[in-house]
Amino acid sequence: MPKEMNIDKTKPVMVTGATGYVAGWLVKKLLEDGLTVHAAVRNPDKKEKTQHLDAIAKNSPGTIKYFRSDLLELGSYAAAMEGCEVVFHTASPFSNIVKDPQKELIEPAVKGTRNVLEQANKTTSVKRIVLTSSCAAIYSDATDLEHTPNGMFTEEVWNTTASLDYQPYSYSKTLAEKEAWSIAGEQSNWDLVVINPSFVMGPFLNPESTTSESFRILEKMGNGALKTGAPKIGMGVIDVRDLAIAHYRAGFNPEAEGRNIISAHNTDMLELARILHKEYGDKYPIPNKAIPKWLLWLVGPMVDKAITRRFVSHNVNHEWKADNSKSKERLGMTYRPLEETMVDSFEVLVKNEIVKPSK
Ligand code: NAP
Repeated sequence: MPKEMNIDKTKPVMVTGATGYVAGWLVKKLLEDGLTVHAAVRNPDKKEKTQHLDAIAKNSPGTIKYFRSDLLELGSYAAAMEGCEVVFHTASPFSNIVKDPQKELIEPAVKGTRNVLEQANKTTSVKRIVLTSSCAAIYSDATDLEHTPNGMFTEEVWNTTASLDYQPYSYSKTLAEKEAWSIAGEQSNWDLVVINPSFVMGPFLNPESTTSESFRILEKMGNGALKTGAPKIGMGVIDVRDLAIAHYRAGFNPEAEGRNIISAHNTDMLELARILHKEYGDKYPIPNKAIPKWLLWLVGPMVDKAITRRFVSHNVNHEWKADNSKSKERLGMTYRPLEETMVDSFEVLVKNEIVKPSK
C-alpha cells in the first residue's frame, strides 16, 4: 500500500514537459492555486518555450522554478523531484510525422517513463505519480471497438494493434504506460494514477512554439489543407482546460486510482470541422463536407505518410465510443460543450494570424 495520501500543498510539485500544450494548462492551474511548481524542461534557456508560463506565474500566487531535464538523460530529474510529493509526468513526444519511430517516439516515451519513475524510487518525498498516458494506449483504430466487451472503449481495454510500423505513437504510449504500471507494482512508496485523454483541443497558451499534433491538426482545418473535405474519422475530444482539472484532481484527490479515460465527446473530425465552419466558414477555408473514403484511401498515403490505407479503412466512417463514467464518478469531472472548445481553440489561431482569411 502506498503512503497515506495526504498531500501537503506547501511542498513543491513537479511537472515534466512543462513547456507542452497539455502541461501548460496544468501548470497554470497549479500556480493559480498557489503551489510551487518544479518545471522540468529540456532547455530552460529557451525563453520562447517558457515565457507564457512566466507571464502566468507573475499574476498568480504560486511560484515556478525551472530545472534542466531530458527524458533520455538518466538522473536528470533528480533535482526537480527533490522535496516533491506529487509528480506529474506529461513529457512524451506527440507527433505523427517521424522518420525513425524507435528513436523519436518509443525511446523517449518508454526510457523517459522509466527514468522519471525510477527517480521517484530514490526520492523519499514522492507519494503520488500522475502519468499522462492516452486513449492511444487503449486503441489504434475505431474498428478496435468491435473487440471490446460492450462496443465501448473502457479503462479495461488495452491497445493490441499498434506496432513500430503501424501507429507508432500509439505504440509508444502503450509501451510507456505498461512500463509505468510494472515499475509501480514493484514498490509501495508511491501510487500511480494514469490519465488517458482522447484527442486534446482547446486554446493554445503558446501557439507560436507548440509542437503538439493537436495544433497541427487544427491548423490544417483552417489553412485550406483540407479544402477537398474533412475525413470522417471517429474520435474522442477533450478540452485542454478540462484535462488540466482532471490531472489536478488525479494528483490531490485521495480516491483517484488506476486508469482514467478523460474524454468529453464521442465525435469525428468532420463534426469538428463543421462546428468551425458554422462560425468561421465565411472567412476561412474550413471544410464543411466529407472527403469520400475511397478518395482518401487512394490519395491519402501520397500526401501524408501518416494516412495509410489501413488507417483509412479502419477509421474513416467508423464510430468511436468511449465510456467516461469513471472520470465523472471518481474525479467529479464535468465537461464543457464541444462548440466552446473548438471556437476557443480556433480563436487563438485567428488572433495570432496563424490562419489567413480566404481572398
Ligand atoms: P507537446 O506540446 O508536444 O508536449 C510534449 C512535451 O514533451 C514538451 O514539453 C516536450 O518538450 C516534451 N519532450 C519531448 N521529448 C522530450 C525529451 N526527450 N526530454 C524532455 N522532454 C521532452 O504535446 P502535448 O499534446 O502537450 O502532449 C503532452 C502529453 O499528453 C504527451 O504525453 C502526450 O502523449 C499526451 N497526450 C496528448 C494528446 C493530444 O491530443 N494532444 C492526447 C492524449 C495524450 P519541448 O518543449 O522541449 O519539446
